[in-house]
Amino acid sequence: MSRHRSPGGEEGSLALEESIDYAPTRARGTHRLPAPPSVLRGRVVVAAVAIGAFAAAGAGQTLQAAHASPSDGVTPLANGRDAAAAFGVGGNAPAAPEIMPVARSVDPASEASKLAKSQRISDQRAAKEAEARRPLFVKPADGVFSSGFGARWGVLHAGIDLAGPLGTPIVAAADGEVIDAGPASGFGMWIRVRLDDGTINVYGHMYKFNVHVGQRVKAGDLISWIGNNGFSTGPHLHFEVWEPGGMKINPLPWLNERGVSV
Ligand SMILES: [Zn+2]
Repeated sequence: MSRHRSPGGEEGSLALEESIDYAPTRARGTHRLPAPPSVLRGRVVVAAVAIGAFAAAGAGQTLQAAHASPSDGVTPLANGRDAAAAFGVGGNAPAAPEIMPVARSVDPASEASKLAKSQRISDQRAAKEAEARRPLFVKPADGVFSSGFGARWGVLHAGIDLAGPLGTPIVAAADGEVIDAGPASGFGMWIRVRLDDGTINVYGHMYKFNVHVGQRVKAGDLISWIGNNGFSTGPHLHFEVWEPGGMKINPLPWLNERGVSV
């Protein structure tokens, strides 16, 4: 701050700028060591003088406006100085709080690191919120419901069929671990995903895989694409739900109860 002091008649107005610089810095509570008391006292005095000067200048202007004469008891010299000081306050006050504290008191590297850290925190928060909002169950393929669970051609059709063009994405209906991804009798190919509660979701007839055994998937993750492998009369996803005990249940109410309409 000493570099801002200069000998000569301008000291008053420079000191005045200094008081303006520091007031917002302190008010914003940036992490700075407190100034030595004597310096602080000096600033308070300067600030008080500045405010007084402003008021005096205002009064002077009013007097001048009212009487328009230099012989009113306000000497032109004092009036001129006060007006200059007041001009200094009025001219600098709006701009100084925006620019000076940053330039003078903040280390750019540490500020950048603080910004990066706060960005990371807000990214993490956004990810957490997205995780909290994401659906835990989804429709496994954007296909047309073409066959339900039950007896069909004398045998149990143990799942539902969602028909769609070859290559239609198949996504995990729920979170879980991939326990099979490969050929299976009747399915051509299948993927089985075991949910945390032990339920197993079975996906059949796909033609390639986007997952491998042991992989953790979340509801909505792309696991494969609709194919026409195995015992299939057209491209569709065959989807089954096995209870933890191994019983195959109707996937339709299972999905519906979890907020998924098919
Ligand atoms: Zn089927």
